[in-house]
Amino acid sequence: MQIKTPTETPVKVIDGRQLADVLIEEMTQEVNERIQQGLSQPGLAVVLVGEDPASTIYVRNKIRCAEKAGLFSLVKHLDASCTQKTLEDVVVELNEREDIHGILVQLPLPQHLSEARIINLIDPTKDIDGFHPVNVGLLSSGQAKLVPCTPLGCMEMLNREMGDLSGKHAVVIGRSNIVGKPMANLLLQANCTVSIVHSKTLEPEALCRQADILVAAVGVAELVDKNWVKPGAVVIDVGINAIDIDGKRKLVGDVNFADVAEKCRAITPVPGGVGPMTIACLIKNTLTAAKQRDM
Ligand code: NAP
Repeated sequence: MQIKTPTETPVKVIDGRQLADVLIEEMTQEVNERIQQGLSQPGLAVVLVGEDPASTIYVRNKIRCAEKAGLFSLVKHLDASCTQKTLEDVVVELNEREDIHGILVQLPLPQHLSEARIINLIDPTKDIDGFHPVNVGLLSSGQAKLVPCTPLGCMEMLNREMGDLSGKHAVVIGRSNIVGKPMANLLLQANCTVSIVHSKTLEPEALCRQADILVAAVGVAELVDKNWVKPGAVVIDVGINAIDIDGKRKLVGDVNFADVAEKCRAITPVPGGVGPMTIACLIKNTLTAAKQRDM
């Protein structure tokens, strides 16, 4: 989709839903070919603890997407009051199952449970969230196997939009373990010159204005306006923030879309940008895990 800015420059809106559909279509074909060749059907297990409404929706969407791509999938739904031991037993059982190639424990967990202990318990070869220290180490040493889904989705969008990213200056706003740091690592491996902006960065706008690629993963609604953006930049908005407008709940990103769209070459919307690609990349990681098991 292209929109006209007041200066009549066409700005491309990168349609994450459409791209995710393309990716899922490609993977469905690959899954069918695997099955025809007598290889295993990739299997995804999602562990959900409790009844958090957002987590329940995310899990439902992930399973729906897995089924669409022809994966075998299951959900282990535990009570919010379950013990650490009960949850760990479920993970150990899934680690041992031959028909499960990817395990995802939906975060956040209830406060009495240790997320770190659970992440560290998942078999790294089935860790499709890419959060296990082994996968973090492999990514940062340039030997990535399973990479966190959101940054992987952002890279898919950038590669399909820009082709070779070599030599581009990329600025990532945010340094979380699940988005900012792996995103910066992936951009570095794509031969970008990478800067990371965080809450203690001095004059972040000036640094961001140098970026050919600007990735915002902050969690602050519409923080990035046109003063943060170089003309012609490609802007990826990871943020998902619920705001209240006249008593109505609305989802917005970390980027002020209307303001920045006037200045950039391409931009992802919220919703409908990075979100659908994150789910598609979860399926991609499950397929990758299945292929790595074949080797
Ligand atoms: P997070 O763990 O809270 O990290 C936020 C990062 O932003 C931190 O590194 C923080 O710096 C930095 N930051 C905060 N305020 C800042 C400011 N004013 N200027 C510059 N940097 C600032 O968040 P996250 O998990 O990475 O998620 C970020 C956003 O992405 C959230 O809105 C989340 O909902 C969304 N998200 C979306 C998807 C998706 O699929 N679309 C997936 C994951 C996350 P410090 O380190 O200095 O505190």
